[in-house]
Amino acid sequence: MARIKSKDTGPEWVVRRLVFSLGYRYRLHDSRLPGRPDLVFASRRKTIFVHGCFWHRHQRCSLARLPKSRPEFWLPKLNGNRLRDQRKLAALKRLGWRALVVWECQLRDTSRLQNRIVKFLDGV
Ligand SMILES: [Zn+2]
Repeated sequence: MARIKSKDTGPEWVVRRLVFSLGYRYRLHDSRLPGRPDLVFASRRKTIFVHGCFWHRHQRCSLARLPKSRPEFWLPKLNGNRLRDQRKLAALKRLGWRALVVWECQLRDTSRLQNRIVKFLDGV
């Protein structure tokens, strides 16, 4: 049975397809950069991260609601993820890279997301 690569499914895959269809070309998961950004646009010095709302603690988002049980387990874990994300973005910025974070819940409105991506990639 073929192994299912989680990397090629879900929100990240949706964003990759969208960005590709807009005509942009990118590298994936460049481990030379802080945080191994999901999409890397080297000539523009820009990166896109695709974040699941729950795992990355999207603020004020219904998808990020905590499980009712064992908050003492989830809270430090998820807050740790969020802190790590912030550090990665800061490290990228220090190196002169710009980053756009696309949240899972923002995939619901494709045309809005598309505008945001174009604005980010074509903007200065
Ligand atoms: Zn969200």
